Amino acid sequence: MTKYDIAVLPGDGIGVEVTDAALVVLQAVGQRIGRRFLTTVHPAGAGHYRDRGVALPEPTLEACRRAHAILFGAMGLPEVRTADGTEVIPQLDIRFALDLYAGVRPIRTWPGLPVPLADPRAAQIDLVLVRENTEGLFHARGRGDVNAERARDTMQITHSGTARVCDFALQLARQRKAAGRRGHLTNVDKANVFASMAFWRSVFKERAAAFPDVSTEHAYVDAMALNLVLKPWDYDVLVAENMFGDILSDLIAALVGGMGMAPSGDIGDQHALFQPAHGTAPDIAGQGIANPSAMLLSTAMMLDWLAVRHADTALADGARAIEIALQRAFAERAVLPRDFGGDSGTADIVRAVVERL
Ligand code: ATP
Repeated sequence: MTKYDIAVLPGDGIGVEVTDAALVVLQAVGQRIGRRFLTTVHPAGAGHYRDRGVALPEPTLEACRRAHAILFGAMGLPEVRTADGTEVIPQLDIRFALDLYAGVRPIRTWPGLPVPLADPRAAQIDLVLVRENTEGLFHARGRGDVNAERARDTMQITHSGTARVCDFALQLARQRKAAGRRGHLTNVDKANVFASMAFWRSVFKERAAAFPDVSTEHAYVDAMALNLVLKPWDYDVLVAENMFGDILSDLIAALVGGMGMAPSGDIGDQHALFQPAHGTAPDIAGQGIANPSAMLLSTAMMLDWLAVRHADTALADGARAIEIALQRAFAERAVLPRDFGGDSGTADIVRAVVERL
């Protein structure tokens, strides 16, 4: 039986709970599609930093490098801080260390789950944000220049860093078009104010010229925030600098009801990590009420990525099986997560999905 090594980093807070949920579903899917997933759990996170003084141990990073893919829960605890006052966030270190440059955040509405927007067109929301993950304003992390009078963080945009993430987004738009969706790419920047963003836009245009079949447009990030609330159904694929992408990914999650339904993949040319877009949610951790859907959908994204990389279509079947099982669980009103006003806990949702697999 074909085997895949999956490095599993549950992390902190509800990261641990939703990872446990994902592992149950992954094994069930493996049986269904005739594939073995050899999952090994590795320590990392704010709790590990507090207890052992290191957030991302080298053996954990090495295991991530060796694995076929990485499943990641969530990391960070508000009370655990580094000397400069920032939170311990090893997921950012992994993105940089493994060069996971494309942060892919798909969202869509789900029949059976309430949506915040009253307009009936909200039922059509189906878009993907591609966030540049390795530079931009996050280049400043750990390099802040602070004195008693002022603090300075520097944004860095490189030609190669921008070109590769734009190529990724253009390819994704092309694939979505081939799959019958719109296949339209919106470049989000602030090219009217910042030289760095005008540079980003010039690189985007250069790359888009190599994809004449993909329709593109430009939007300033402030207008984008407005339009994503007014008419999110008009968008298909978005690409943005790291910080803009960070903010907009929470906004688009809200469009479909919150972080509980927002999966993500951090993808590079050699490695890829899949995690829910949400954090450790200390306010609900340890109560068994976290919505595992974002994590289950991230697991499906992992299977899709592995399917392409290893030319193994059974894995793509597994990804569809997870999505369809979750969709049916909601559409049949079998479960309603707490963050959508229901009373289904983590275990209820896992059970409903496994039954439908
Ligand atoms: P980070 O800075 O790491 O993104 P955060 O503290 O800003 O983390 P989250 O941990 O994502 O944000 O939590 C934001 C809100 O969403 C909290 O009220 C949390 O309870 C809720 N939330 C996040 N994930 C889930 C989930 N899987 N199920 C239910 N509620 C969730």
